[in-house]
Amino acid sequence: MFQDKEPSRTSLSDLGEFGLIDHLTQHFSIAQESTLKGIGDDAAILDFKDNKVVLTTDLLVEGVHFDLSFMPLKHLGYKAVMVNLSDVYAMNAEATQITVSIAVSNRFPLEALEELYAGILLAAKAYNVDLVGGDTTSSSKGLLISVTALGTAKEEKIVKRDGAKPMDLLVVTGDLGAAYMGLQVLNREKEVFKVNPNSQPDLEPYTYLVERQLKPEARKDVVKLLNDLELQPTSMIDISDGLSSEILHLCKNSKVGCKLYEDKIPLDPQMINVCEEFKIDSTTVALNGGEDYELLFTISQQDYEKLKANPNFTVIGHMTEEHEGMHLITRGNAQIPIIARGWNALNEDEAED
Ligand code: ADP
Ligand code: MG
Repeated sequence: MFQDKEPSRTSLSDLGEFGLIDHLTQHFSIAQESTLKGIGDDAAILDFKDNKVVLTTDLLVEGVHFDLSFMPLKHLGYKAVMVNLSDVYAMNAEATQITVSIAVSNRFPLEALEELYAGILLAAKAYNVDLVGGDTTSSSKGLLISVTALGTAKEEKIVKRDGAKPMDLLVVTGDLGAAYMGLQVLNREKEVFKVNPNSQPDLEPYTYLVERQLKPEARKDVVKLLNDLELQPTSMIDISDGLSSEILHLCKNSKVGCKLYEDKIPLDPQMINVCEEFKIDSTTVALNGGEDYELLFTISQQDYEKLKANPNFTVIGHMTEEHEGMHLITRGNAQIPIIARGWNALNEDEAED
C-alpha cells in the first residue's frame, strides 16, 4: 500500500487551468518510440508503423465506481490506469499510451489532484505507458476520471472474444474473488468507523484482499508469457465483472457452450477464510465478485503442454458445442446453468439474506 501524505490545501483556482495541467503533468516523460508528440499541442501524434492499434476507454464516477472514504486518491489514479491496461492486455496487445481526463469540484485542493497524478505516474512508469493527453474541467459535485488506453500488436497476435472452439480448454490467470472480499472488509471497517471514529482497523489478516481491491495489477506479464510460450489463445477477455459474466461473453461471442468445474476455480486461502468469516459462499464470490483484472482465455487442446507446468495458469474447464449450454459442474457433480450476475446482483443477494 502507499503511504498517505500530510494534507495541506491549495485552491485549484490559484493555478488556473493551464497552470494546473502543467503542474500535474510535469513529472511525466515519454518512453515509447511510437509517441512522436505527447502533451502540449492540440492533439498527440503517434506512429505505430505496420502494427495494429487497440483502443479502450473507461469512465469512473465518485460514489458509483469508487468511495474516497477508503480509497486513497493515489490508489484511485493507479487503479484507473490498471482498469484500462487490463483491457489492452486482454487483446494480447502491448499498452503504449494513455490519456487521462478529469472533472473535479472545488471541494478538491491541488494536493488531492497531486496524489491522484502520483498514482497515475506510478502506473505509467511501472507499465511503461506514456501519458499523451487528456482534458481538465470542473464538476458541480464529486470527481470523475476517464482514462483511455492505446496499445499495439501485430494483427495475427490480437485475440478477440469470438475465436473459442468446442473442446478448447478454458484457462484463468491468478486467483479470483479476492478484490470483492477486500471491498467487503473495507466497507465493514467504514461502518465500524462511523460508529466509533477512534477505532483503529486491524487489516493485517486481510492485506492480500485489501491490496487486490485498492491496488490491482493488470496482467502485462501474462501477455509476455504467452508470447514466450508461443501460445496463441483462441479467445480472451479480462475479468472485470466476475468469472461467470466473462465466460458468458466468450461463449456468446464464440457461439460455443462450456463446462466450468467448481473444484478447479483458483482461490487464495485468505479469500476462503474471509468468506467463512462473512458467511458467504466462496464459489459465488469467485463467479460474481468482479474487479479481479485477471485474464480468462481459451486454448486448443494441443497447446495444453505449453502451459500445464506454469503456476500462473489454471485450467478451469472446457468449451462445448453451443447447444449443450453453459454449466458449472459443482463439487457434488451437479450441473448448474451459468447465469450473468456481476457484482450488483451479488449485493442484491446479500440484501435478501
Ligand atoms: P484543448 O483546449 O485543445 O482541449 P487543453 O488546454 O485542454 O487543450 O490541453 C492542453 C494539453 O494538455 C493537451 O495536450 C491535452 O491533451 C493536455 N491535457 C489536458 N488536461 C490533461 C490532463 N488532465 N492530464 C493530462 N493531459 C492533459
Ligand atoms: Mg481540453
